Amino acid sequence: MKSIPLSGPDISEQEIDAVLRVMRSGRLSLGSEVPAFEEECRSYMGSKFAIALSSGTAGLHCIMKALDIKDGDEVITSPFSFIASANSILFERASPLFVDIDPETLCLDPEKIEEKITPRTKAVLAVHVFGMPCEMDRLSALTKKVGLYLIEDACEAFGGTWKNKKLGTFGKAGVYAFYPNKQMTTGEGGMIVTDDGELADEFRSLRNQGRSLDDNNAFVRLGYNYRLTDFQAAIGRVQLARIDEILAKRRQVASWYEAELEKCLWIKLPPQTENAEEMSWFVYVIRLAEPFRQADRDQLRQHLHSQGIQTGCYFPAIHLSKFYRDKFNFKRGDFPRTEEVSDRSLALPFHNGMSRGDVAMVCEKVISFMERLEAPSAKALR
Ligand SMILES: *Cc1c(COP(=O)(O)O)cnc(C)c1O
Repeated sequence: MKSIPLSGPDISEQEIDAVLRVMRSGRLSLGSEVPAFEEECRSYMGSKFAIALSSGTAGLHCIMKALDIKDGDEVITSPFSFIASANSILFERASPLFVDIDPETLCLDPEKIEEKITPRTKAVLAVHVFGMPCEMDRLSALTKKVGLYLIEDACEAFGGTWKNKKLGTFGKAGVYAFYPNKQMTTGEGGMIVTDDGELADEFRSLRNQGRSLDDNNAFVRLGYNYRLTDFQAAIGRVQLARIDEILAKRRQVASWYEAELEKCLWIKLPPQTENAEEMSWFVYVIRLAEPFRQADRDQLRQHLHSQGIQTGCYFPAIHLSKFYRDKFNFKRGDFPRTEEVSDRSLALPFHNGMSRGDVAMVCEKVISFMERLEAPSAKALR
């Protein structure tokens, strides 16, 4: 039986050659590959500065730290995200102020932000979930009007745009991630972009043990080791040079899924941008239609696994995870739209190694199972 993984990096001989070249150079960290990668990212995004880090999470942490978000402060964000976005707020002992999602975009609902703001609110951390852009016009206008920092977690949206401007470049700072399931990878890694030169300098110092940028022996703030290695940066440079090809292939796999699944009544397709070119596909997440519940999703998942098809639950609601429940007393019902989407979502295999035949095979298994599944009111829909 052929097994189909959930995700997989798109690595060519060029990335492998690039790693070997750096390995043979003897300069594995603090060499010339990282600044070259930063310059290429900066130019691709159209931002003034780009700072490479060891992960997207490290980038989020540095942004919180550099914006002086601390004990007692609040940051508005979405409970429907990968947990790192909310965790980064807790690193500096600030609190996440969750706002439920817009069921169309699955991103933070701009409508619901203003009523949540308190005197301790410092920032809005917008997450472009699954690569789907948040409504940046409204978020930019709102944060400007009320005087909050706008931060973008663009870890799932590398290369995506909103009205021709790259996601990640709208606010005070934005961050991308390069874990192997993301659009492009460096193994582990991240990148912050910003137009603020002082902030950029602070990020460079924070990632390198709090060093002064002029004197390697002067430590001027509490810092971390959040550096990216040169062989990782070398992988990233090749991936970035191939990014149009990589994103186009992902778009193609997504369009194959759409063609196969749009005829199935039981399945809701993932949100996407009006202009297909603006979308940077991170994952392919379907939702079971209304009569179906979490238990049905879990059954479908089990069935697909028994057929060698890997799937993922993206995302478990952050506020319902054990740690957040214990710390903040969150309970089921607190963010109903997030819970409803989360309960019925399933990420299907999605990566550039997939053929049209692979997609057809996955969809055939999904559709035939859904047609056999007895949901409470499924018959009524027929
Ligand atoms: C992947 C991801 C991160 C974290 O990136 P890492 O590089 O894995 O630390 C943060 N936020 C979101 C929304 C992500 O998907």
